[in-house]
Amino acid sequence: STQIQLASRPEGWPTHENFQTVQATHGDLLEGQVRVRNEFISVDPYMRGRMDDVRSYVAPYALGETITGGAIGRVIESAAHDVPVGAVVLHQHGWADAVQADAGTFTVVPEVPGLPLSLRLHILGMTGLTAYVGLTTIAGLREGDTVFVSGAAGAVGTAVGQIAKLLGAKRVIGSAGSDEKVALLTQKYGYDAAFNYKDGDIRGQLAQAAPDGIDVYFDNVGGDHLEAALAVFNDGGRAALCGAISSYNATEPSPGPDNMANIITRALTLQGFTLASYLHLAPEFSEKMTAWFAAGRIAYDETIVDGFENTVDAFLDMMRGANTGKMLVRV
Ligand code: NDP
Repeated sequence: STQIQLASRPEGWPTHENFQTVQATHGDLLEGQVRVRNEFISVDPYMRGRMDDVRSYVAPYALGETITGGAIGRVIESAAHDVPVGAVVLHQHGWADAVQADAGTFTVVPEVPGLPLSLRLHILGMTGLTAYVGLTTIAGLREGDTVFVSGAAGAVGTAVGQIAKLLGAKRVIGSAGSDEKVALLTQKYGYDAAFNYKDGDIRGQLAQAAPDGIDVYFDNVGGDHLEAALAVFNDGGRAALCGAISSYNATEPSPGPDNMANIITRALTLQGFTLASYLHLAPEFSEKMTAWFAAGRIAYDETIVDGFENTVDAFLDMMRGANTGKMLVRV
């Protein structure tokens, strides 16, 4: 199989020199193993963090190790009695066109006619669950809340706006990095207001979109977006700190919000989370999302890059905002 490994640690924005493509030959299947041909590979912002050699909630990628992460594929050979050839499997083996490993490292998922397999890597999978957990368990969303979402046109963000509305939010406001994305937020994703943060004055634009303040902030971006949210929070407001993508490729320490004192004076709760600690909520999410999805109440977008050899470009382009909804590689 062909695999992509981390060759060196990026400083700032990664480049192609930081990655290497290697060929691996798989031996005959051992008892209990399966061989899987990948169909879709996920490229995710958190992968940038794993390219640095720093303490975090997941171990850094080792140099010369295949980049691990979410992928979905089909079993093409099996020596495991419970995982037949043809089964669709979700796994974390990452950036490879094919993988051979113990059947226990794959999760068999049902194949539903008319339902693209790729959705298991976003709206019906981890990104959908991230949106749900952040809004409910972390931010304690209540009916009638006004919600602000940054990174609103991405995989997590498109899910957040819709789920917030379905759970009774009164007003949902989003920010994104292009006029096309901003239009999509209000026209397709049910956002009541949206703005392009690249037009500048994020504080002013948010204040205008939220004349009655916000109760919940779902933060995918950090930095200037968090500062803007802190400025318009109502008393008792709650933030789910999900990501801080504005700083992931920064070489200088990112400046923090200058209005942290509002946390005190307005009695705000800001809570960070990583999904790994909330996987027990997957069944609850799955039940709700399956029903919403079947009722046609969930929209989604995918930006699909064709060809395994373009995986690194897909990852870099996602970090630059080339995606609407989920960025995926079709192998
Ligand atoms: P997205 O699909 O949202 O893709 C990333 C997007 O970030 C880009 O499309 C781009 O959109 C935006 N972006 C890039 N740089 C900036 C910037 N400087 N300021 C504002 N926006 C920027 O990725 P995901 O949905 O997978 O992830 C979204 C966030 O959620 C990330 O911060 C990620 O780390 C976090 N996350 C956290 C999890 C957890 O367990 N806590 C789990 C999953 C994701 P644009 O064109 O709008 O700039």
